[in-house]
Amino acid sequence: MSEAAFTAFPRRRGTLHAEGVALARIADGVGTPTYVYSAGALRARYRALARAFAATRATICYALKANMNLAVVRTLVAEGAGADVTSGGELFRALRAGADPARIVYSGVGKRDDEIDAALRAGIRLFNVESRAELRRLDARAGELGVRAPVAFRVNPDVDPKTHPYIATGLRTSKFGIPIDEAPDAYAEAKALPNLRVAGVDCHIGSQLVEVSPFADALARVRALVLELRSTGHAIEIVDVGGGLGVTYTDEIPPSADAYAAAVLGAVGDLGCEIILEPGRWLTAGAGVLLTRVLYEKGNDAKRFVVVDAAMNDLIRPALYESAMKIEPVEDVAGETRAVDVVGPVCESGDFLAKDRLLPPLSHGALLAVDSAGAYGFAMSSNYNARPRAAEVLVDGDRFAVVRTRETYEDLVRGESIPTEITG
Ligand SMILES: *Cc1c(COP(=O)(O)O)cnc(C)c1O
Repeated sequence: MSEAAFTAFPRRRGTLHAEGVALARIADGVGTPTYVYSAGALRARYRALARAFAATRATICYALKANMNLAVVRTLVAEGAGADVTSGGELFRALRAGADPARIVYSGVGKRDDEIDAALRAGIRLFNVESRAELRRLDARAGELGVRAPVAFRVNPDVDPKTHPYIATGLRTSKFGIPIDEAPDAYAEAKALPNLRVAGVDCHIGSQLVEVSPFADALARVRALVLELRSTGHAIEIVDVGGGLGVTYTDEIPPSADAYAAAVLGAVGDLGCEIILEPGRWLTAGAGVLLTRVLYEKGNDAKRFVVVDAAMNDLIRPALYESAMKIEPVEDVAGETRAVDVVGPVCESGDFLAKDRLLPPLSHGALLAVDSAGAYGFAMSSNYNARPRAAEVLVDGDRFAVVRTRETYEDLVRGESIPTEITG
């Protein structure tokens, strides 16, 4: 089966479905806006990637930050995924979803002591360390807890991933990792610290990469570093190649899993290392849609707007990265298409889901689906404008479950109080 063979959101008799469930049925039962995920699509993507790396010792550590819903993480963990976490909260979620600590790696440019302690206590596989200052903190905390922390440095190979500047992380000017030419000294320091065990080398150069060459270039430099480190007595047994593999939102043509695997293994496959992968977007983006209802249309002689009940607080990618996401009516609509901006109710001009999109006439209550919204959708949502966050639904075959209930107004004020001594 090819990775594209599973159709998560088929259109049947003019109606968009999630697997076997009509999206209109979910909208009627759960309301809108709602994120809908396909368990089948998550499994198909995981299996395609696992198959591409089947010939080598590879561990797929799902990058939770793309979509941290427990049911989504659980679906991937049940397939064999580990987790890549970037905070204590993500570690908590990964463990709650049943991830094996021996398959959890912890990345991130700033780790608090309590977060380090939680990961040490859990006995995770690898700390991806992003500075020498962090290395010393980690050594101190491990000493305090009486354990040895397995470490890799996240090295910055200074490669341009040719993606949006906000999601490029491997340039010399980026806040992430350490410059690769400083790595030998940093590893020497790591080796000298008593409570650490040097285990690998890590690199993550950016997200939504649609070419293999930046991966190949970065990993060629990582390979040279591994050889150099080995020659100076470091036992490097893991190469963590990060995440970043891109997906199709509109007309991008990203590399296939097989092409990606060929590039990775072509660069570092002969080192005899375990390969750790940290895919986020690639596993979840296409497995989700955001369901939203049309409130009304408005227009003037210059512009036509479709105002919907989802907004930038629900899905910030268009506003934050100027990313184009496909939007389609859930029910086939007759009538001539016209260019419209699809906008939300939030009081910001940046609050749009799409610009100049050809859509048919849409009346009050019509359902729209924003495609490929399974990654960095709900995960980046907020309560801006005091908007309760959306519900999340997981579909498996012809059944669905609400896997996160829609927030209520009471949820919005949870934890807040009005102190009488101060306000009178
Ligand atoms: C965000 C991130 C990932 C996942 O990136 P995707 O583009 O979603 O695959 C992996 N590793 C690290 C360190 C990250 O910060």
